[in-house]
Amino acid sequence: MGIGNTYMETCSKCGLCIDVCPRYDDISLIDDLCDFLEGVCEKPCFDIKRCLTCNLCTEECPEGLSIKNLITASRQKMTTMNGITAGQTTADPFSDNNFYRKFSEHRKIYTFKREGWNGEVLFFPGCAGTIIFPRMSKAMVNVLEQAGVDYTVMSGIDSCCGAVAAGTGNREPAMKKGVTIIEEARKRGVKTIVTTCPGCFMAFKVLYPQFIKDMDFEILQASQYLKKLIDERSIKLGRLESTVFYHDPCHLTRGMGIHQEPRDILKSIPGTILMNSTTKGSACCGLGGGVRVNFPFDSIEMANQRHAYAKELGCDTLITNCAGCLQNLIEGSNGSGLKIVDLTEYVAESMGIKEKHSAQDDGETIHLLNEVFCDCLPAYRERKRFFYHHQAVADNHT
Ligand code: SF4
Ligand code: SF4
Repeated sequence: MGIGNTYMETCSKCGLCIDVCPRYDDISLIDDLCDFLEGVCEKPCFDIKRCLTCNLCTEECPEGLSIKNLITASRQKMTTMNGITAGQTTADPFSDNNFYRKFSEHRKIYTFKREGWNGEVLFFPGCAGTIIFPRMSKAMVNVLEQAGVDYTVMSGIDSCCGAVAAGTGNREPAMKKGVTIIEEARKRGVKTIVTTCPGCFMAFKVLYPQFIKDMDFEILQASQYLKKLIDERSIKLGRLESTVFYHDPCHLTRGMGIHQEPRDILKSIPGTILMNSTTKGSACCGLGGGVRVNFPFDSIEMANQRHAYAKELGCDTLITNCAGCLQNLIEGSNGSGLKIVDLTEYVAESMGIKEKHSAQDDGETIHLLNEVFCDCLPAYRERKRFFYHHQAVADNHT
């Protein structure tokens, strides 16, 4: 039975999923998507680009269903029917229009000392962690060096995991890249794979085992590996005085079930007070599912709401665990005054390791990101104009 018919049989239309969804408010979305997936209509009436893929709907459903899964299947079906769109090419590592490729034409890419080495632990920083925010990857490398880990690195577009392309409905890059990445990891003698990006983590844990046999690696997200190093006493955390908010990345917390390890780490740092010790109230930063490029104003507004929430709790620092969230939380800070860092950077700092970076560096990165969005997606230039116009109007009213 097709996914649409399965949903039609199981869904009680209780509406709990729609009640928590930040992007849709009409329960008939489910019927619409089911009809499309079962071939009753040629395309959905609802705009499937609006979905953040945040999985809040999945978490609420008493039947174990998920609007997000219907959206993902619909995006895949649209790709099969119509081919790849300009938006999808930006996430495709084989395309000249790949966003990270374009970005790297404007900025020198950080080179990791142990790129290509043999090692037991593979550190996999992902495209964003290599090209956009190397500051978080440098922090992880510094931790690995200080802990004396036998590690190797595979970074950049050549080693793109393909997860973002798969999220847009284009699975082919993940299938091709997965095979070469795993072959290379085997050649290097890797036993454990550590990713900072939740998308790369999902690729190794969920996507690749669907087409690669004997994935006999230990696969850990950075927070899990850092916790392991702390538990084994391979690293020692020093005092860091801060009142912090941990921002749960959707694809890590609800997508992959990782939310306790980062909190355990933060609670174990002397002087650090964690104000949200559970996932209650967690929500998307606004970047996910292509919403940042397709609906920039909504996206930045959502990031801004995360800052407001953390400020209400009396926090001075916002910590996340994903390069995409880091990007949107920086861009959406709107002068909140909160310090914004990745968990790995915070851990490195508590170990006495501090990489230099400034608000100006972040500002330049965000400016360049927007320029590259314009370059990759002609439609974005118009959206950007609209976005800045609305932001200026909003600022005048605050
Ligand atoms: S929460 Fe689950 S059962 Fe209820 S309407 Fe949504 S998909 Fe259907
Ligand atoms: S994944 Fe998030 S945005 Fe998409 S339908 Fe579910 S709750 Fe709504």
